[in-house]
Amino acid sequence: MNQLNPVDTLVIGSGPGGYMAALKSAQLGMKTAVVERDQIGGVCTHVGCIPSKALIAESHRYNTYKQWNNTAASISFEHAQAFKQAVVNKQSGGVNYLLKSAGVTILTGEASLIGEHTVAIKKAGTDQKLSFKHAVLATGSRPIELQALPFGGRILSSTEALSLSQIPTSLVIIGGGYIGVELGQMYAKFATKVTILEGGGQVLPGFEADLAAPVIRQLNDDGITIITGAIAIKAEQHADSLTLHYLKNQEQHLVKAEYALVTVGRKANTDGNLGLGHIGVQMSSNGLIETDEQCRTSIPHIFAIGDIVKGPALAHKASYEAKVAVEAIAGESSAVDYKAIPLVVFSEPELASVGLTETECKAKAIPVVIGKSSFSINGRSLALKAPEGFVKMIADQASGIVMGAQIVGVEASTLISELTLAIEMGATVEDLALTIHPHPTLGEVIMEAAENALRKIMKDRNKEKAVPN
Ligand code: FAD
Repeated sequence: MNQLNPVDTLVIGSGPGGYMAALKSAQLGMKTAVVERDQIGGVCTHVGCIPSKALIAESHRYNTYKQWNNTAASISFEHAQAFKQAVVNKQSGGVNYLLKSAGVTILTGEASLIGEHTVAIKKAGTDQKLSFKHAVLATGSRPIELQALPFGGRILSSTEALSLSQIPTSLVIIGGGYIGVELGQMYAKFATKVTILEGGGQVLPGFEADLAAPVIRQLNDDGITIITGAIAIKAEQHADSLTLHYLKNQEQHLVKAEYALVTVGRKANTDGNLGLGHIGVQMSSNGLIETDEQCRTSIPHIFAIGDIVKGPALAHKASYEAKVAVEAIAGESSAVDYKAIPLVVFSEPELASVGLTETECKAKAIPVVIGKSSFSINGRSLALKAPEGFVKMIADQASGIVMGAQIVGVEASTLISELTLAIEMGATVEDLALTIHPHPTLGEVIMEAAENALRKIMKDRNKEKAVPN
């Protein structure tokens, strides 16, 4: 086995967690190598965030064109796929460039930990060995496969669904979480007949009913059939279609479609040949790696971040953890603080959440005030022909400190950052209400929701003052 020069930091996996860890480690002056068995950029760049958002954007452009021309636009899906691939290539080229210019050694192959300070890198014909002082594990996740519906043929995971060469005439989606909804609406906008089967009582199950409602209305308007309380049990594949059987109210039903897309969650890449068991890294019962607030595993010089540790499986959470882990390696006292991790659904209208929800505050009996304001009276959203939705702000009743916020509406994905910063900085609703927001902009809806919450707090305070003694 070929022995490579030792490094200070070894990173396994080059997704948003791994490449950020490698970059930051090199920037802090540590000799760094990253090992990737597939493509630099990971799931996010190649089969996740980036390609899905590129195709979603194409589906919106197609739809707008169709509406403007009041006719069925003919579309070359080949063009949409080529656009997506160009975006992916640009993004992955950018990551490659950043790593190389920071001096990170990029190694290709499958990494297996063969000792607490040694990794084997296997690639057809060329096995290599590398020793390291510290390691950051960032091996990410893969789609969960249902035993009754194994991937293959007409049963797709999100990866294949993003790479079809032609628009399917019909698609049945099993799982109405954010990936199912995003890809379902995208294909519906490309004129595919979409059915979503969701096991629970509502698609987008993580969101409160009032927030999900505008999205569900739009999904219906896009011609999507949503069947809740439905459990897929088996599929028969035919030459040009598939019959999917599902249970609802204890009765068996079926739906026919050209393809089935299974989006029921993701499984951490902590199994296989990675060697965690071999070196004794402590795992939790759900297959995730146990870590402390510095992302340190049970082996103190080995760290783990991203989809393989607890918390939401999101790209920005992975890269945030990367910064904390590498700062810890560099001897700093950095620690994770998860109170403000934004979550975005790139549906139409967009949906975004950060911090606590009203339901969570009620469950924890935290006294809060809710400030709300609607996009329907905002000049900018009217101009954009997107008056649907609202901003909901949750603030501590006594102090007015913002504890959470949800947005459903146009550009929620961008707007949520202001509220994330507010939570991160411990801002109050008064801070947001008194911040001058440019006019006419969508951000004014945030300011108005803050004013709404502030009025309620002031009313409560005045009531307290008015109590006769
Ligand atoms: P990954 O991105 O999964 O990267 C892990 C890398 O490690 C892979 O490249 C893999 O090949 C490599 N690897 C694994 N094992 C080894 C080994 N033994 N040796 C060498 N290399 C190895 N998140 C968002 O925040 N926003 C979104 O809009 C969003 N949209 C998504 C859409 C879809 C369709 C999907 C599937 C996911 C989406 N996500 C989104 C989730 C996001 O992609 C993940 O949370 C993120 O990629 C996780 O980053 P990571 O660094 O943990 O790992």
